[in-house]
Amino acid sequence: MAGPGRNLAPVATPLSASTPPFSFSSASVRHPPRPRPSPTPAAMAGVWKLGRSLRQPELHRLVLALIIFCLVSMALLAYYVSSSPKIKEAPPLPLSDCGAGSAVAAAGMAGAPRAPLFLPPRAGRRPAGKAADVPRTDPTVLVFVESTYSQLGQEIVAVLESSRFRYRTEIAPGKGDMPTLAGHDRGRYALVVYENILKYVNLDSWNRDLLDKYCVEYGVGILGFFKATENSLHNAQLKGFPLLLNSNLALQDYRINSAAPLLYITRPNLVDPGPLPGDDWTGFQSNHSTYEPVLLAISQSSEPPGQQGAMHSTVIQDLGLLDGIHRVFFGNNLSFWLHKLIFVDSIAYLTGRRLCLPMERYLLVDVDDIFVGKEGTRMKVTDVEALLSTQNKLRSLVPNFTFNLGFSGKFYYTGTDAEDRGDDMLLRHRKQFWWFPHMWSHMQPHLFHNVTVLAEQMRLNKLFAQEHGIPTDMGYAVAPHHSGVYPVHTQLYEAWKSVWGIRVTSTEEYPHLRPRTLPPRLHPQRRPDIAQTNLDKSIRGGELFLTVLLNPVSIFMTHLSNYGNDRLGLYTFESLVKFVQCWTNLRLQTLPPVQLAEKYFQIFPEERDPLWQNPCHDKRHKDIWSKEKTCDRLPKFLVIGPQKTGTTALHAFLSLHPAITSSFPNPSTFEEVQFFNSPNYHRGIDWYMDFFPFPSNVSTDFIFEKSANYFDTEGTPRRAGALLPRAKILAVLVNPADRAYSWYQHQRSHLDPAALNHTFHQVMTAGPSSSREVLALRRRSLAPGAYATHLERWLRHYPPSQLLVVDGALLRSNPAAVMDGVQKFLGVTPHFNYTQALIYDEGKGFWCQKLDGGRAKCLGKSKGRKYPDMAPETRAYLTGYFREVNMDLLRLLSRLGQALPGWLREELQSGRWS
Ligand SMILES: [Zn+2]
Repeated sequence: MAGPGRNLAPVATPLSASTPPFSFSSASVRHPPRPRPSPTPAAMAGVWKLGRSLRQPELHRLVLALIIFCLVSMALLAYYVSSSPKIKEAPPLPLSDCGAGSAVAAAGMAGAPRAPLFLPPRAGRRPAGKAADVPRTDPTVLVFVESTYSQLGQEIVAVLESSRFRYRTEIAPGKGDMPTLAGHDRGRYALVVYENILKYVNLDSWNRDLLDKYCVEYGVGILGFFKATENSLHNAQLKGFPLLLNSNLALQDYRINSAAPLLYITRPNLVDPGPLPGDDWTGFQSNHSTYEPVLLAISQSSEPPGQQGAMHSTVIQDLGLLDGIHRVFFGNNLSFWLHKLIFVDSIAYLTGRRLCLPMERYLLVDVDDIFVGKEGTRMKVTDVEALLSTQNKLRSLVPNFTFNLGFSGKFYYTGTDAEDRGDDMLLRHRKQFWWFPHMWSHMQPHLFHNVTVLAEQMRLNKLFAQEHGIPTDMGYAVAPHHSGVYPVHTQLYEAWKSVWGIRVTSTEEYPHLRPRTLPPRLHPQRRPDIAQTNLDKSIRGGELFLTVLLNPVSIFMTHLSNYGNDRLGLYTFESLVKFVQCWTNLRLQTLPPVQLAEKYFQIFPEERDPLWQNPCHDKRHKDIWSKEKTCDRLPKFLVIGPQKTGTTALHAFLSLHPAITSSFPNPSTFEEVQFFNSPNYHRGIDWYMDFFPFPSNVSTDFIFEKSANYFDTEGTPRRAGALLPRAKILAVLVNPADRAYSWYQHQRSHLDPAALNHTFHQVMTAGPSSSREVLALRRRSLAPGAYATHLERWLRHYPPSQLLVVDGALLRSNPAAVMDGVQKFLGVTPHFNYTQALIYDEGKGFWCQKLDGGRAKCLGKSKGRKYPDMAPETRAYLTGYFREVNMDLLRLLSRLGQALPGWLREELQSGRWS
């Protein structure tokens, strides 16, 4: 019973833009799934409350282990059915064999000439592409697009993103300006893609040379598209290549050259009969043996006499016999589905199968809303028989195929008499299906804030299952409308765990729709014939096909009415499976949800770690987020550290500002929140938001958080960038030598034996034979001081305009001036006069808050501690030690156009002459 609110469309598996590279073959072997302890109901209670027990981080991990894979939906069907009268027509017959194209195409084929299908194979090929032993390039694709918004560019990126391949886009320069391709004897890109091949062939000789040398040296291939325009010459040579282009052709009968070495997923031996869309196709022609046709078609009869029936090669691969560079050229864009398939194979081929998904495709079909549904749209006995018979047929094609039924027991026996008999028939055959709980009354969990209410609803459904012998141990559930799954509604997870022992769930929303640019939506149609035409398009190379092509694991969400009212669900999956098996070598199979999740995490181990995004930045997320939650409880800026640079003083000064509010301290430590860099992250954003006050009426209020460890912890910028992409970032930097010394003193005052028993000089100059404790202390003293490295990591997730480097030495000596700059950077109003708010405390030697009556209120005595000056020889040692990284910082700040801290200037000057 999916209402209009369930505005879902088939989509590909989500992934993060900064997903680390992966190699499919190793990922599935070397990463055993993490053991999943099973929580007891008692242990789950209060999981999301503020720090209460030591076991909590572990429990939080469990809670989040629930968040799982993509869910691919078939809302078209559901929506169509629920908003239209009952269909009287007989269910359509699924695709039966590989030869038949669409009805229109088949008619167009009658009597059409057939050219020979295959070219003779040539000797001396490397069919698997160039497999290097140790890759010398990063597994990243460099994509030269025409503009940020060019359509083909977006389609290229969508395929890469769906496949979770790392990529970088650059606007193809008219001339010059090739980005840096290699460094430290390592190539940055494994493949170069040109949206417009002409940008490649027209490169000036210097840049072309640079690119060619790079491709040869690192074994990198080139992939390019030629899209004809009205102005394209009908016949032209591709500049610099023995290759002729015939443009603006009208073609038909597309076929695959089975001898093309790049074929991998694509299964040849087929003709897609009928005319190709458009009359702007380009064919490549060459006599040189380096070129091998990949896709071929013949001229339509509308072409001039003499041209009719001629064979054209619209995708061609260059085997590198001329200059050692492998290339694939497309004589059109990616609009035609077969081009997407060949594009995926080309990427695999040109990267020696480094950028390539495994051949296995796991499918699961969820049938939500069992027993839910209006009278007249539910399953009758004959529908259940059809479901069973289709399941059996599918099992011969897809090992283990089993429909996964999601039930809401409250609606059992609420149909017509014939439908009630259908309910009984389903239950009689319950052992032949898998089952999962939907929600007893099909309610949306995110609207309920009381765990008890949710748990009670679940208990009723479980009782129903037990009464009717429905298995209750699948460990999987999906909430109606994805409600509460993501963005996470913690109460739902708590109730799921306590009542059902749920271990995995699925949603299409996590961490957001992927790719972001969806192909055009299929709109609900009132006419069944139109609905089915759209569905056919989706199956025959459209969205449904691409979903399977680009995702190793797909879960399809369908609804009861797709099996009762119109049986389009049966039609869809039988046809889809057949189409996939006709055109690809993909191996399809089904697994129960928990095993499927394990498989998913084997393939994408990096996704075990959740990534929270801001629900308010995505309308779809906001719609299924609790109305009681607000993104105004997330910080507008972060003070990220590092430690011992004066961040506490900055925090105190900021807090004096009337429009700036800090987070509450962590109640368990009375100190920093430490969300992004610690296991606290697994407690979720509700936990994090509890550290911030409910927003006042003043929308200009700035709330912020300071955790000094954020600066130099590896995964923090990515997490912060996902949740707070618009936040501003403040880093406070002092001379890293002074920072190291301060850290050492800090450790002394905390009675670290390594610090107590060794002088600072001993620690700094400790060699590899020193004790572990001393080396650890040395590392913690020195590592954060590589400022540029850490800042670069932040800059991968934040634009430079959102980052401010604060001179920590100046903050100490002249805080009012620094705070003026900080206020300007934040854009906070009103302007606060720190000259009047601060007073210099002679005794402390610090600027402190000026109280009424002129007294000073300073930070606690642990702050601004006094200790002896650093020994000159240690300072000299550290000046040398940090020279390189300080130079890096100089370069970085110059690039960003930020002021150089005084200490950096001095340090580099003294360094130069010492
Ligand atoms: Zn539902």
